[in-house]
Amino acid sequence: MTACPQCDQPLKSEPPYAGWCPSCDWNVVRAPSTEKTRFARLQTHLVRGLYADITHPKGAAPDAAREAATAGLGGGVAGGAARVAGYVLACLTHLLCPAFFLIGVYFVTRWTFLSFVPAFIAFDLAWLLRPRPAPFPAGGLPLTREAAPDLFALLDRVGAEVGAPRTDLVAVSGAVNASFMTYGRRRRRVVEIGYPLWLVLTPQERVALLAHEMAHSGNGDGRHGLVVGSALHSLGVLRDVTRFDWQEGDGMSRLVAEAFLAVLGLPVRGLIMAMELLLYRSAQRAEYRADELAARAAGTTATISLLDALITRADPVHHFLDAGVVATRTDDLWTAIRSYVESLPESERERLRRAARLEELRVDRTHPPTYLRMSRLAALPHEEGRVRAPGGAIGTELAPPAARVAEAIREDAQSALYH
Ligand SMILES: [Zn+2]
Ligand SMILES: [Zn+2]
Repeated sequence: MTACPQCDQPLKSEPPYAGWCPSCDWNVVRAPSTEKTRFARLQTHLVRGLYADITHPKGAAPDAAREAATAGLGGGVAGGAARVAGYVLACLTHLLCPAFFLIGVYFVTRWTFLSFVPAFIAFDLAWLLRPRPAPFPAGGLPLTREAAPDLFALLDRVGAEVGAPRTDLVAVSGAVNASFMTYGRRRRRVVEIGYPLWLVLTPQERVALLAHEMAHSGNGDGRHGLVVGSALHSLGVLRDVTRFDWQEGDGMSRLVAEAFLAVLGLPVRGLIMAMELLLYRSAQRAEYRADELAARAAGTTATISLLDALITRADPVHHFLDAGVVATRTDDLWTAIRSYVESLPESERERLRRAARLEELRVDRTHPPTYLRMSRLAALPHEEGRVRAPGGAIGTELAPPAARVAEAIREDAQSALYH
């Protein structure tokens, strides 16, 4: 057995997986994130602080404390003020589109040759920020109620349990994720099922996953709202176009344009950071609340094992899909993913759990750290679960869109290979 180069204790290793040290965590995190900035330390502090508030609210009777902790809304006056401030910032963001439009009009009416450049940029930005309804999940294949009666029966059952409105459509996609959202002008409700994640879950864990996502529709998460959600989306678009993207050989005029955009992007980044800080409390509370509703619907055991699966199964699925092997494999993608995840030795799962714990606790992640979510569920009274995973034909109903998703993933991987 090899010894740890850092503390001399024996390493854990199961070839072909690289060894790691259970005593000092040497080689546990394989792709270390950038060193801790002051902002990251502040975030760690905030995330831990909120967890402590939720598990041990100060100066409240145990029952009232539990009630307050699970109310799902931003706790207390400070939380309420932060939500209002976040809302105000969101409204200001929505004013950017007409503001850029007016700036464009101003420059155009100067009627000089030079004024057309800034006018063009201003109109471009106004167009990018135009209000628009959320699109159908990218790369998702629609599955209707008629085509999948058993799946929709389960969605209705879970929705009724967590207080979610009726689902109009399912989108089967290649994401390692799931979500419940509205799209389009008529704000139709769609459940997105990322098949690579769905595939590696047990039937009862799938119930927990659906319950968690559907619980978000009514639990006061500021980030999912119409005003704030679309403002964050607009700012994200602006951040992407103002990202400094210049390489040697791109030329001087390109450098000037990129530098100009990057400077313009600074207030955008600041605004995003401010909104994340204002909203993180209500957003993370909403996550804890959604977990609790998921446990009530699917049972504590299945919900905790779903969360464990996000680390020990979803991470390997990401790894498999990113590794570039998809393009060249000729076997069935879903079978290959499933056997890859099943073949992971226990020591590797344990490493993934540790790596997840060592990761920075960031407020701009959409969810609180998984291990905190698990310990919170374990501390709450045990729930048996009210919705049993049905036998039924759900697998058969999902098979046709899943096969097309596999094809799309393979085509994407191949075109990435040849470019
Ligand atoms: Zn060590
Ligand atoms: Zn969530």
